[in-house]
Amino acid sequence: EFDIRAQGASEDQDFEQQLRPLTFDDFNGQQKILENLQIFVQAAKMRGDALDHALLHGPPGLGKTTLANIIANELNVGFKITSGPVLDKPGDLAGILTSLEPHDVLFIDEIHRLNPIVEEYLYSAMEDFRIDIVIDKGPSARTVQLNLEPFTMVAATTRSGLLTSPLRARFGINLHLEYYDTEIIKKIIHRSANILNIPIHDNAAGEIASRSRGTPRIANALLRRVRDFAQVKGNGEVDKNIAMYSLEALNIDKYGLDEMDNRILTTIIDKFQGGPVGLNTIGTAIGEDAGTVEEVYEPFLIKEGFMKRTPRGREATPLAYKHLGKIDPASQGS
Ligand code: ATP
Repeated sequence: EFDIRAQGASEDQDFEQQLRPLTFDDFNGQQKILENLQIFVQAAKMRGDALDHALLHGPPGLGKTTLANIIANELNVGFKITSGPVLDKPGDLAGILTSLEPHDVLFIDEIHRLNPIVEEYLYSAMEDFRIDIVIDKGPSARTVQLNLEPFTMVAATTRSGLLTSPLRARFGINLHLEYYDTEIIKKIIHRSANILNIPIHDNAAGEIASRSRGTPRIANALLRRVRDFAQVKGNGEVDKNIAMYSLEALNIDKYGLDEMDNRILTTIIDKFQGGPVGLNTIGTAIGEDAGTVEEVYEPFLIKEGFMKRTPRGREATPLAYKHLGKIDPASQGS
């Protein structure tokens, strides 16, 4: 089975790099976030200060890394990148912090996976631009205070619910990325096709967009696969027929739902009579953490009208029944 989410995430970093927007103007969608960020960046530049620390949260592939990079570009400062799991020891953190130039952006991906001991050190770094490091062991152990250049930390997470409140409180800017509308994904596909010199028809771009799960990373990965089909089965041009043919061949769901989405909906319908059923119960049934279901999977299902959030739990909608080819008891009448 072709797993588009895994594909886009791991394969060919060069390709992602090439398609990554570098300025605010180049970035499509997330309009509210962009408007706010542009003001914060401009104000920081006018004051000659480092930008406040920013937390970006939302499902994978929506452009958190891209935005962090854009922030650094627009501020005209350096950009360093690391991630929660990589910062294993306080020394790792101290090393990267002391390498920063004034006002640089330090991007920490997957901040929710930060070692709690390292997190403690981050507090004073973020608040006072200093870090206290213990050197030596036993009786000769002592603390050395390192002063840091003022910097901006941009952190990204898919699971903001897992952040501790002291950490969360240290971000002056807090932004939530949403799944993109199909129209915007279509624009992103046109932009990518243009960069990659792929001739594409507007309705073909629309077809790919509607199956991209509101996610630019998936859209770009699908475009690349469809290009392969266009080259081998056609004349290199991506028209609607080629797009449809490729998407069928790749077994891409008509609405862009992935395996986990379908599993969640099937579970609600088959095991819980369509709901309402609590998030924890769904999590247990599918072997996934309830918080991940809430922050990573269900926002798309709710946005696209497959699932409803009610005071008594989650419910599958008639669209979910229809899509999965199941009979909705509510539509049977009596
Ligand atoms: P993760 O947290 O899983 O790494 P992410 O949210 O950081 O994901 P990015 O790596 O920034 O996602 O984006 C994935 C790809 O999608 C990039 O290659 C980028 O080119 C493209 N992309 C993301 N957002 C946009 C956008 N708004 N316009 C155009 N392309 C975008």
